[in-house]
Amino acid sequence: MDTNRDCGCESARQRMDILIDRELTELECTDVSAHCASCESCQAEIAVMEKLTDRFRAACAEPAPDNLRISILNSITNQNGIRDT
Ligand SMILES: [Zn+2]
Repeated sequence: MDTNRDCGCESARQRMDILIDRELTELECTDVSAHCASCESCQAEIAVMEKLTDRFRAACAEPAPDNLRISILNSITNQNGIRDT
């Protein structure tokens, strides 16, 4: 039945990760967004995906700067030195 296909959860979900990677064409974005707007389960799904992706991106976007890494290493070394006495 064609009426049963209108949800299109499966195809929407297949494209969600691409949507989140922003590699979808505008038309496809609209397609997935439109589906999600009318489908609660896909809405929840995409919300979770977006959260995970945001965290992942945030983690990747913040490489420890060299001077921070060095000062951390120094503080560790210093602590060890102090405890060593
Ligand atoms: Zn759906």
